Amino acid sequence: MQLYTKILIGMLVGVVLGFLVGPNSDLLPQHGVILGPKAQVVSQRGGGQPVPQAAGIERARLEREEDGWLYVRWTLRSRDVVRLEAQGLQASRGATHRGWVQRSPVQARTYSPLGQTLVDWTEWLGRLFLAMIKMVVVPLVFFSLILGIASLGDFRKLGRMGGMTIGFFTATTTLALTIGLCLTNLVAPGALMGETDRAMLLGSFDASGVTSAAARAPSLVDQIVGIVPANPFAALANAEMLQVIFFATMIGIAFTLMDKKKAALAVDMCDAMNDAMVLLVHIAMKLAPVGVAALLFKVVGTTGLSVLIALAAYGGVVLLGLLCHISFVYLPVVQFGARVGFFQFLRAIRAALVLAFSTSSSSATLPVTMRAVEDNLAVSNEVASFVLPIGATVNMDGTALYQGVAALFIAQIYGIDLTLVDQATIVVSATMASIGAAGVPGAGMLTLAMVLAAVGVPVQGIALVIGVDRVLDMFRTATNVIGDATATVLVARMQGEPLRVVSPAQDAADPEHGVEGVLTHPDPHPVHAEDDEENDRDARNAQ
Ligand code: ASP
Repeated sequence: MQLYTKILIGMLVGVVLGFLVGPNSDLLPQHGVILGPKAQVVSQRGGGQPVPQAAGIERARLEREEDGWLYVRWTLRSRDVVRLEAQGLQASRGATHRGWVQRSPVQARTYSPLGQTLVDWTEWLGRLFLAMIKMVVVPLVFFSLILGIASLGDFRKLGRMGGMTIGFFTATTTLALTIGLCLTNLVAPGALMGETDRAMLLGSFDASGVTSAAARAPSLVDQIVGIVPANPFAALANAEMLQVIFFATMIGIAFTLMDKKKAALAVDMCDAMNDAMVLLVHIAMKLAPVGVAALLFKVVGTTGLSVLIALAAYGGVVLLGLLCHISFVYLPVVQFGARVGFFQFLRAIRAALVLAFSTSSSSATLPVTMRAVEDNLAVSNEVASFVLPIGATVNMDGTALYQGVAALFIAQIYGIDLTLVDQATIVVSATMASIGAAGVPGAGMLTLAMVLAAVGVPVQGIALVIGVDRVLDMFRTATNVIGDATATVLVARMQGEPLRVVSPAQDAADPEHGVEGVLTHPDPHPVHAEDDEENDRDARNAQ
């Protein structure tokens, strides 16, 4: 069975199990209660005295439910005792308390402890898989970019490639925002939301972390200067992608300028390291079916259905916008600009898409995107190693579109009328915010605060959309990755590269290339540094 098929099965299993046996599943007994930060636990149903020992308690057991009130029980642990005593309350470890709390997303909602246990048990598989892929990202980008730049040899080519890449990214991000804003103005999802849903969403999430992150956002000038790493080893260690890209590009340029013989040695080394990293990607991908299942099980299992329903109109607009962007922007560029059939193109990068969807991280997907465009579309390493890492860091059309929709949606709910000038401000600030967002889960939501602040919409409003963020993140990350791959094939075509789609049958038939069969090497062998000398001696003797 092909790897893609196994990964797809993994996705399906994760999603289905998430619905069936996740913490929010209605099929499992919902004996657990999650208490919101503002939950009020009282001594009698419908009122009574507040129970002070409930302060700060997050999870409790459900004893019974009457008229929308939950009778809950919880046992104090050491850290609860410390917290309560700090507030001057009497508390002892192991003591059990009981009280009533109203069932509502703000106050208390039930969950299945069994489903939660299943998530806790399987979650590490997803994290392990992600860590295996992430382990490769920095060294892969570093070595393959040095290799790519060194083999370009011509700075004018580099300048042209850089110009095209940045031009494409800016143009498509602006288009994505225009599509998102037009659709949100047309559908007005904010106006469709009822008062109860609004109160429920505003109260059920804590947006304070997001708000403070926005306050720390650096200015544009700082961001540009920050691309040059004062300490390149720190940049590598901290996976500061733009800094790594800059450093690798400069080393590649230096190799083309220095003594040829010495440079060839170093470039050969980078080539070998690059090949080794590629193999590590393949090894990590062996874990993908299980990893993807575990990641999706957690996301689907813990996303509440009530939140999904309340935000259906907003989520629908984001998804429709992403679909429009893919159909009206990427499709013509791939079909007519790069002259590759669009569906063949999507098929060629499908491993990357599946991964983007399940990890919600374009950075973690980067190694697989690089493999997909090089092996399945015959894009050269020079182009792929330059365009894709920049794309994974700065090009986020899906994120920009989502930020545009979210900003307008939140403004609609607060009844704030945004003028055309305000909406133009959203385009500019969301372009910056999407560039500034890292390719990791939820990054777009953090930088959304910058967009809201730019047009004077309360940043607290992010609480309204946090509930579906993880689910929408899957779709916008997949869009971001399609955008990166689109730019890559376009730049490759404009550089005069002959693109060619490798079919799954060709891939399966050639173990040296593509995704299939690379690891079934007939002859894993120990490597000795002297091998080369021996070969040289053999060659001399033969002469
Ligand atoms: N998760 C997205 C990405 O990695 C960024 C975001 O929109 O949050 O591309």
